[in-house]
Amino acid sequence: MGVGHVAVAIGAAKAAPRVNAGWLVFAALLADFLLGIFAYLGLEHATVPPDFASKHYFLFTFPYSHGLLPLILWGVLLGLLVSLPYGSARKRVFVVIAALVVSHFILDGIVHVAGLPLAGENSPKFGLGLYRNLPLELTLETVITLVGAALFWTVASRSAISRYGVILVTLIVLALTWTQLVVVLPPPPRAMVADWIAFPLILSAIIYGLDWKRVRAESAT
Ligand SMILES: [Zn+2]
Repeated sequence: MGVGHVAVAIGAAKAAPRVNAGWLVFAALLADFLLGIFAYLGLEHATVPPDFASKHYFLFTFPYSHGLLPLILWGVLLGLLVSLPYGSARKRVFVVIAALVVSHFILDGIVHVAGLPLAGENSPKFGLGLYRNLPLELTLETVITLVGAALFWTVASRSAISRYGVILVTLIVLALTWTQLVVVLPPPPRAMVADWIAFPLILSAIIYGLDWKRVRAESAT
Protein backbone atom coordinates (compact mmCIF):
# COMPACT_ATOMS: atom_id res chain seq x y z
CA MET A 1 0.00 0.00 0.00
CA GLY A 2 1.18 3.53 -0.71
CA VAL A 3 -0.59 6.70 0.41
CA GLY A 4 -2.89 4.67 2.71
CA HIS A 5 -0.11 4.43 5.30
CA VAL A 6 0.47 8.20 5.18
CA ALA A 7 -3.25 8.90 5.49
CA VAL A 8 -3.67 6.65 8.54
CA ALA A 9 -0.68 8.42 10.09
CA ILE A 10 -1.97 11.98 9.66
CA GLY A 11 -5.42 10.85 10.82
CA ALA A 12 -3.78 9.48 13.97
CA ALA A 13 -2.82 13.07 14.87
CA LYS A 14 -6.35 13.21 16.28
CA ALA A 15 -5.30 10.67 18.95
CA ALA A 16 -1.91 12.29 19.62
CA PRO A 17 -2.16 15.99 18.74
CA ARG A 18 1.06 16.93 20.55
CA VAL A 19 3.17 14.61 18.41
CA ASN A 20 4.60 16.01 15.18
CA ALA A 21 2.90 14.29 12.21
CA GLY A 22 6.38 13.67 10.78
CA TRP A 23 6.91 11.06 13.52
CA LEU A 24 3.47 9.57 12.85
CA VAL A 25 4.23 9.21 9.13
CA PHE A 26 7.65 7.71 9.82
CA ALA A 27 6.05 5.16 12.20
CA ALA A 28 3.48 4.14 9.57
CA LEU A 29 6.21 3.77 6.91
CA LEU A 30 8.83 2.17 9.18
CA ALA A 31 8.24 -1.29 7.61
CA ASP A 32 9.11 0.03 4.13
CA PHE A 33 12.18 1.87 5.45
CA LEU A 34 13.34 -1.37 7.12
CA LEU A 35 12.59 -3.30 3.90
CA GLY A 36 15.08 -0.99 2.18
CA ILE A 37 17.72 -1.59 4.85
CA PHE A 38 17.24 -5.38 4.84
CA ALA A 39 17.15 -5.48 1.02
CA TYR A 40 20.38 -3.47 0.93
CA LEU A 41 21.90 -6.10 3.24
CA GLY A 42 20.63 -8.85 0.92
CA LEU A 43 18.22 -10.30 3.51
CA GLU A 44 14.93 -9.34 1.83
CA HIS A 45 13.86 -8.80 -1.77
CA ALA A 46 11.08 -8.17 -4.27
CA THR A 47 10.35 -10.53 -7.16
CA VAL A 48 8.92 -9.23 -10.43
CA PRO A 49 6.17 -11.56 -11.69
CA PRO A 50 6.41 -12.41 -15.44
CA ASP A 51 3.13 -10.61 -16.12
CA PHE A 52 4.17 -7.41 -14.30
CA ALA A 53 3.22 -5.21 -17.29
CA SER A 54 -0.45 -6.09 -16.82
CA LYS A 55 -0.44 -6.78 -13.05
CA HIS A 56 1.67 -3.80 -11.82
CA TYR A 57 2.54 -5.47 -8.49
CA PHE A 58 5.59 -7.20 -6.98
CA LEU A 59 5.90 -10.28 -4.82
CA PHE A 60 7.95 -9.83 -1.67
CA THR A 61 10.12 -11.88 0.66
CA PHE A 62 10.28 -9.61 3.70
CA PRO A 63 9.93 -11.48 7.01
CA TYR A 64 12.03 -9.06 9.13
CA SER A 65 10.48 -5.78 7.99
CA HIS A 66 6.87 -6.83 7.31
CA GLY A 67 6.26 -9.87 9.57
CA LEU A 68 3.69 -9.34 12.34
CA LEU A 69 5.94 -10.38 15.23
CA PRO A 70 8.94 -8.30 14.06
CA LEU A 71 6.63 -5.31 13.44
CA ILE A 72 5.33 -5.53 17.02
CA LEU A 73 8.94 -5.44 18.24
CA TRP A 74 9.85 -2.53 15.90
CA GLY A 75 6.69 -0.75 17.08
CA VAL A 76 7.63 -1.14 20.74
CA LEU A 77 11.15 0.15 20.05
CA LEU A 78 10.06 3.22 18.06
CA GLY A 79 7.20 3.84 20.50
CA LEU A 80 9.60 3.90 23.46
CA LEU A 81 11.98 6.21 21.62
CA VAL A 82 9.43 8.75 20.36
CA SER A 83 7.39 8.84 23.59
CA LEU A 84 10.41 9.63 25.82
CA PRO A 85 9.92 13.43 26.05
CA TYR A 86 6.13 13.41 26.55
CA GLY A 87 5.82 13.22 30.35
CA SER A 88 2.27 12.40 31.41
CA ALA A 89 1.20 11.77 27.79
CA ARG A 90 3.99 9.23 27.33
CA LYS A 91 1.79 6.13 27.50
CA ARG A 92 -0.63 7.48 24.94
CA VAL A 93 2.13 8.52 22.52
CA PHE A 94 3.76 5.09 22.91
CA VAL A 95 0.47 3.33 22.04
CA VAL A 96 -0.21 5.56 19.00
CA ILE A 97 3.31 5.15 17.56
CA ALA A 98 3.44 1.37 18.17
CA ALA A 99 -0.07 0.94 16.70
CA LEU A 100 0.93 2.91 13.58
CA VAL A 101 3.98 0.68 13.06
CA VAL A 102 1.81 -2.46 13.38
CA SER A 103 -0.96 -0.94 11.19
CA HIS A 104 1.43 -1.42 8.26
CA PHE A 105 0.91 -5.19 8.59
CA ILE A 106 -2.88 -4.90 8.34
CA LEU A 107 -2.91 -2.39 5.46
CA ASP A 108 -0.28 -4.24 3.41
CA GLY A 109 -1.95 -7.56 4.28
CA ILE A 110 -5.19 -6.39 2.68
CA VAL A 111 -3.46 -5.65 -0.63
CA HIS A 112 -0.42 -7.93 -1.03
CA VAL A 113 -0.80 -11.08 -3.10
CA ALA A 114 1.94 -13.32 -1.66
CA GLY A 115 1.04 -12.19 1.87
CA LEU A 116 2.90 -11.03 4.98
CA PRO A 117 4.29 -13.66 7.39
CA LEU A 118 3.13 -13.78 11.01
CA ALA A 119 6.60 -14.58 12.37
CA GLY A 120 9.34 -16.08 10.14
CA GLU A 121 9.30 -16.57 6.36
CA ASN A 122 7.87 -20.11 6.73
CA SER A 123 5.07 -19.11 9.10
CA PRO A 124 1.45 -18.65 7.91
CA LYS A 125 0.91 -15.54 5.77
CA PHE A 126 -1.79 -12.88 5.73
CA GLY A 127 -2.55 -11.49 2.27
CA LEU A 128 -5.97 -10.75 0.83
CA GLY A 129 -4.47 -9.81 -2.56
CA LEU A 130 -6.48 -6.69 -3.36
CA TYR A 131 -3.62 -5.73 -5.73
CA ARG A 132 -5.21 -8.19 -8.17
CA ASN A 133 -7.88 -5.52 -8.67
CA LEU A 134 -5.73 -2.39 -8.78
CA PRO A 135 -8.47 0.18 -9.54
CA LEU A 136 -10.40 -1.07 -6.49
CA GLU A 137 -7.21 -1.02 -4.37
CA LEU A 138 -6.50 2.57 -5.43
CA THR A 139 -10.08 3.57 -4.70
CA LEU A 140 -9.73 2.14 -1.18
CA GLU A 141 -6.49 4.13 -0.70
CA THR A 142 -8.28 7.26 -1.91
CA VAL A 143 -11.10 6.77 0.61
CA ILE A 144 -8.55 6.24 3.42
CA THR A 145 -6.78 9.42 2.26
CA LEU A 146 -9.98 11.48 2.42
CA VAL A 147 -10.77 10.21 5.94
CA GLY A 148 -7.17 10.79 7.15
CA ALA A 149 -7.07 14.29 5.64
CA ALA A 150 -10.46 15.18 7.18
CA LEU A 151 -9.27 14.07 10.64
CA PHE A 152 -6.03 16.04 10.28
CA TRP A 153 -7.99 19.11 9.12
CA THR A 154 -9.86 19.14 12.45
CA VAL A 155 -6.61 18.80 14.45
CA ALA A 156 -4.53 21.38 12.58
CA SER A 157 -6.66 24.49 12.98
CA ARG A 158 -3.83 26.32 14.80
CA SER A 159 -1.50 26.49 11.82
CA ALA A 160 -2.40 27.11 8.19
CA ILE A 161 1.06 25.90 7.07
CA SER A 162 0.45 22.60 8.78
CA ARG A 163 -3.17 22.25 7.77
CA TYR A 164 -2.77 23.02 4.05
CA GLY A 165 0.84 21.85 3.71
CA VAL A 166 0.46 18.37 5.22
CA ILE A 167 -2.79 17.71 3.36
CA LEU A 168 -1.33 18.99 0.05
CA VAL A 169 1.73 16.73 0.42
CA THR A 170 -0.57 13.77 1.19
CA LEU A 171 -2.62 14.52 -1.95
CA ILE A 172 0.61 14.58 -4.00
CA VAL A 173 1.48 11.13 -2.57
CA LEU A 174 -2.06 10.03 -3.50
CA ALA A 175 -1.45 11.12 -7.12
CA LEU A 176 1.92 9.28 -7.12
CA THR A 177 0.21 6.15 -5.80
CA TRP A 178 -2.28 6.24 -8.71
CA THR A 179 0.62 6.26 -11.23
CA GLN A 180 1.04 2.54 -10.36
CA LEU A 181 -1.83 1.92 -12.74
CA VAL A 182 0.26 2.92 -15.78
CA VAL A 183 3.66 1.47 -14.77
CA VAL A 184 4.56 -1.37 -17.13
CA LEU A 185 8.33 -1.64 -16.58
CA PRO A 186 9.65 -2.49 -13.10
CA PRO A 187 12.37 -0.13 -11.82
CA PRO A 188 15.87 -1.64 -11.44
CA PRO A 189 16.30 -3.42 -8.03
CA ARG A 190 18.88 -0.85 -6.85
CA ALA A 191 16.52 2.03 -7.51
CA MET A 192 13.78 0.23 -5.57
CA VAL A 193 16.05 -0.25 -2.55
CA ALA A 194 17.08 3.42 -2.62
CA ASP A 195 13.41 4.39 -2.89
CA TRP A 196 12.33 2.23 0.08
CA ILE A 197 15.01 3.84 2.25
CA ALA A 198 14.72 7.43 1.02
CA PHE A 199 10.96 7.87 0.61
CA PRO A 200 9.97 7.38 4.30
CA LEU A 201 12.86 9.61 5.45
CA ILE A 202 12.24 12.45 2.98
CA LEU A 203 8.46 12.42 3.32
CA SER A 204 8.47 12.37 7.13
CA ALA A 205 11.11 15.14 7.19
CA ILE A 206 8.94 17.35 4.93
CA ILE A 207 5.85 16.69 7.05
CA TYR A 208 7.86 17.32 10.24
CA GLY A 209 8.87 20.74 8.91
CA LEU A 210 5.32 21.62 7.87
CA ASP A 211 3.83 20.48 11.18
CA TRP A 212 6.42 22.12 13.45
CA LYS A 213 4.53 25.35 14.18
CA ARG A 214 1.25 23.57 14.95
CA VAL A 215 2.91 21.26 17.49
CA ARG A 216 4.64 24.21 19.15
CA ALA A 217 1.28 26.00 19.51
CA GLU A 218 -0.31 22.78 20.77
CA SER A 219 2.40 22.26 23.41
CA ALA A 220 2.13 25.87 24.64
CA THR A 221 -1.44 25.31 25.89
ZN1 LIG B 1 5.03 -2.08 3.05
